[in-house]
Amino acid sequence: MLSIALTGNPNTGKTSLFNMLTDSYEYVGNWAGVTIEKKVGVLNNKQGQLVDLPGIYSLSPLSRDEGVTTLYLLEESPSLLLNVVDASQLTRNLHLTVQLLEYGKPVVLALNMIDVAKNRGLEIDVELLAQKIGIPIIPVIARSGYGCDKLLQTAMNPLDSAHPSHPEPFDYGTILETAIAKLEERLPENVEPKRWLALQFFEGNIPVLQMLRQYIDPVWLQAFYSETEERIRAAFDGKKLPDFIRDQRAAIIDEWLQSAVRESKTAQITLSERIDAVVMNKYLGIPVFLAFMYFTFKLTFDWIGTPLSDLLDSLLNGPIRDSLNILLDKADAAAFIKALILDGIVGGVGGVLVFVPQIFMLFLIISFIEDSGYMARIATVMDKLLEGVGLNGKAFIPMIIGFGCNVPGIMAARTIEQPKERLLTILLTPLMSCSARLSVYSLFVGTFFKSNQALIVLSLYVLGVVVALLLAFIFSRTLEKEEESMFIVEMPPYRIPQWRSLSRSTWEKGKGFVRKAGTFIFGGSVVIWLLGYTGFQGWDVPMNESFLQTIGSIIAPIMAPLGFGNWQAGAALITGFLAKEVVVSTMGIIYAAPTQAGLEGAITHFFTPLQAYSFMAFILLYVPCLATVGVIRKETKSAKWTWFSVGYALIVAYIIAFIIYRGGLLLGFH
Ligand code: GDP
Ligand code: MG
Repeated sequence: MLSIALTGNPNTGKTSLFNMLTDSYEYVGNWAGVTIEKKVGVLNNKQGQLVDLPGIYSLSPLSRDEGVTTLYLLEESPSLLLNVVDASQLTRNLHLTVQLLEYGKPVVLALNMIDVAKNRGLEIDVELLAQKIGIPIIPVIARSGYGCDKLLQTAMNPLDSAHPSHPEPFDYGTILETAIAKLEERLPENVEPKRWLALQFFEGNIPVLQMLRQYIDPVWLQAFYSETEERIRAAFDGKKLPDFIRDQRAAIIDEWLQSAVRESKTAQITLSERIDAVVMNKYLGIPVFLAFMYFTFKLTFDWIGTPLSDLLDSLLNGPIRDSLNILLDKADAAAFIKALILDGIVGGVGGVLVFVPQIFMLFLIISFIEDSGYMARIATVMDKLLEGVGLNGKAFIPMIIGFGCNVPGIMAARTIEQPKERLLTILLTPLMSCSARLSVYSLFVGTFFKSNQALIVLSLYVLGVVVALLLAFIFSRTLEKEEESMFIVEMPPYRIPQWRSLSRSTWEKGKGFVRKAGTFIFGGSVVIWLLGYTGFQGWDVPMNESFLQTIGSIIAPIMAPLGFGNWQAGAALITGFLAKEVVVSTMGIIYAAPTQAGLEGAITHFFTPLQAYSFMAFILLYVPCLATVGVIRKETKSAKWTWFSVGYALIVAYIIAFIIYRGGLLLGFH
């Protein structure tokens, strides 16, 4: 079967194209580093498979996600490379193209974003460029699908006589060419592609070096590299070998573009620059971001999310519950079954499902941040702050994604090159308040802080970020020092997100929440309901003689200093480790209050506003949920750090909730 690999610089539209050309859907975002793993899909015409790879500027890997592409090229043998190039950034993009041509497999160039190029006043003579490079070039707009059919056709038949398909190898000058030939000779017959391997070796590509060591004496390799570098240095003003290769390529690219691209002058200040002057301003940047977040929560709570959620609640606990009731009576269901379904499942799962509108609202806004281009800007604005506490500006991207769900947030930390900074980011991302916690806040702010819901919730998000920054400062001082790192984040142009891709990515994020309600929370609710239904006395015991009470009572005294020393809160905290939404389910079951209004009424008897705030802060900070712990383990590959992430969170949550509650009491709150 045909296997086509999508390669290109970050943010050039590879994933958009992947979605157009295959029957699958992957995640698209307007910032570098969205795709961190290779993704495989079946081509629309069913004649092969397409592999989406992380974006790279060069084949020498810097960060873990960049290594994915080089390893793919080393280990697998794609039949064709589909090189996606941003037409508005040709000079930079083509460096990778040259390296791909050297790989020796057929290359088809997808000239993407021609709409953007046109707006910038670039005129590209596609025919001429194709002749010069010697490969087929197809102009496309991956976002709308323009040109995609023709691209697929060409990819099926790249060596068709209608296209130029035999690029000449580039001449790197006598010194290097002699060295390449010498290295090629040393390689066994079956090791391919020789010229590409040799060039990558001279560029300092570590995975390639490791591979060559299997065939050639490492000592000889080392000496040969130094010798070649010496020669280049002597002949070219002390230029380093990788720089020399890069400059040679730059010269070729210049020659290609000189005749094929014409630029009409457009010197006015763009809208993009005007927006950046505000959102990236030294003083305004952070306040603008906070205002944006405040607006987000206003939308989520006051304006759209909560009214919808109330509607859902009245539907669930009105017509739906009533008809279930009638149905169960008709079926002559036993009292046990009836209670399990109505109190356990409708109470537990329904209690969480009513927050679907708030959570989708939040995901919609996160998708907007990602796709508009604001994401990379916030990362840049935050870089100074993050650098001060020992993190990289890029850490902000995992953190924002963590606002949706900590699991993909932690995975996004793969784009951070420095191992120490990456570890720190992984450890601290769980402190970002995810949407699961939002369901707990929704319940509590709706009960205790009706008039300023958005502000109270914003304060919890800020609390999570501030604690993360403080801990980063402390941790980075205690972890052993490594070399300094640089912050390079690609600044994508602003784009008005398309409704189609926004709704798609909101759904992709939100469906996890719905699925979780159907599986985890469903199972959890049944178990919790059973624990509440049974006790040492047998079945159908009063709630405060149940096993749930027994379990909750164990930790209740420990929590008493924080203001929530009742067994109900204790039981909710323990079950919340499964998934934080389960806290809400548990409360719904314990207080036997399926409707949101009923539940709100019940918790006012057990919490004061101050205790409620302390409880929310504790929920925010204490242990990452089960799925998050799993992904921490996977990403750090270390049991030690996984335990650490749970342990420090418990301690910090305890201290902060203590300070909030005791401090609040001293200040006269109650
Ligand atoms: P990748 O990082 O290479 O996988 O790129 P993505 O597919 O994630 O796309 C990056 C951004 O560019 C997204 O915001 C896309 O909507 C946008 N985009 C992709 N193709 C085009 C195009 O042809 N024209 C325009 N204007 N935007 C595009
Ligand atoms: Mg991608």
